[in-house]
Amino acid sequence: MLPGMNVSSSKRIAIIGGGVAGLGTAWRLAQAGAAVTVYESGALPARSGAATWASGGMLCARLEMGHAPVALAAFASSARAAWPAFAAEIERASGVSPGFAETGALVTASGHAPGDGIVAVDGDEARRLVPGLSAHIRAALWAAEEARADPRWLAIGLARAAQAAGARFVKEVRVNRIVENAGRVTGVLTSAGVQAADHVVLAAGAWSGGLLKVSNLPGPPIRPVKGQMLSLAADPRAMPVNRLIWAEGAYIVPHHDGRVVIGATQEEAGFDATLSEGALEALRQAAVATLPALAGLPVAERFCGFRPATDDGLPALGGIGPEGLTLASGQFRNGILFAPLIADAAALHALEGRLPSIARQFSAARFAEAA
Ligand SMILES: Cc1cc2nc3c(=O)[nH]c(=O)nc-3n(C[C@H](O)[C@H](O)[C@H](O)COP(=O)(O)OP(=O)(O)OC[C@H]3O[C@@H](n4cnc5c(N)ncnc54)[C@H](O)[C@@H]3O)c2cc1C
Repeated sequence: MLPGMNVSSSKRIAIIGGGVAGLGTAWRLAQAGAAVTVYESGALPARSGAATWASGGMLCARLEMGHAPVALAAFASSARAAWPAFAAEIERASGVSPGFAETGALVTASGHAPGDGIVAVDGDEARRLVPGLSAHIRAALWAAEEARADPRWLAIGLARAAQAAGARFVKEVRVNRIVENAGRVTGVLTSAGVQAADHVVLAAGAWSGGLLKVSNLPGPPIRPVKGQMLSLAADPRAMPVNRLIWAEGAYIVPHHDGRVVIGATQEEAGFDATLSEGALEALRQAAVATLPALAGLPVAERFCGFRPATDDGLPALGGIGPEGLTLASGQFRNGILFAPLIADAAALHALEGRLPSIARQFSAARFAEAA
């Protein structure tokens, strides 16, 4: 049962999208007794192009929120606080560790300043925190509370937990339209036919805006912001680095399965999934310049994903348009960090028609008001 929610439900709920938002919401709703079906056009958990599979997995409620509005910083901080219990609950329910660790983050990139939870350190202190850091680095910032989770193991864990709680998964089936009748959502039109539902949760990431449009429903123009990444393969028992690093020109995220993820570009390129050898090599070199030991590791994978972005850069949650529709999108760069709160907020809205107070500022209804 969700915090603050006192009803269980037998509603039939269709969830569109098998990324972290759809899977987390499915789990919470199945726990509340709803009859949940997740529709995913790709594999489950979603892979190719899905932001979740491509994500770095940084949980940086301090560094990511430097210039953020107060409400978003509060949301990030509350999400970060929820993570230890969220990770433990996923592991208990699924047997899969989402790779959560309170690593802290060292910032050697310029353009950041000390602040709440972020302190200045000299080069020696930086090398004590991150052994192997380049000798050229004379000063850095240290954000002790930053953390990471592995988005891929997170998605696998959430999928198993949701299934164990009773959610049904329909993979490789695309939702072509949300079906509405007289101001109420009645189901989804999929590539496998019409499926009736009492409620629909739209958690289709960067594709959410397009689906609202083809369904002739109002909603925020959610656009894809492409991110290219690569990962290096390290021995998980002898990791070359155990902390997050925000280096000049790249960030470095070590994961518990030995993947060292290096990212990321941020491009307005629509859904073009082309990888640029030059951009990826620039990221690798920036990481190596900061942590020379990475030079010896083989590249395991190159990939990209599409961050779901709204025009005001804030999440878009809750109801918009007809009765019976919940939107869970617009998490942009921080959808892994926000995962525990997005799941709770979307589930609460689907069951009770309201958002928790921490999420109310991100109500999708603000776009209807603006229009
Ligand atoms: C390169 C990169 C790095 C990132 N790094 C971080 C980070 O370090 N920390 C952090 O917190 N966040 C990070 N993010 C952001 C985070 O990954 C996203 O905000 C989050 O994963 C969005 O999750 P989602 O479930 O909404 O979307 P997605 O994971 O994109 O899932 C949406 C799913 O919906 C499916 N779908 C779409 N349309 C349909 C349809 N019509 N029918 C059926 N299924 C459909 C898609 O196939 C997709 O699988 C990063 C993102 C990228 C791209």
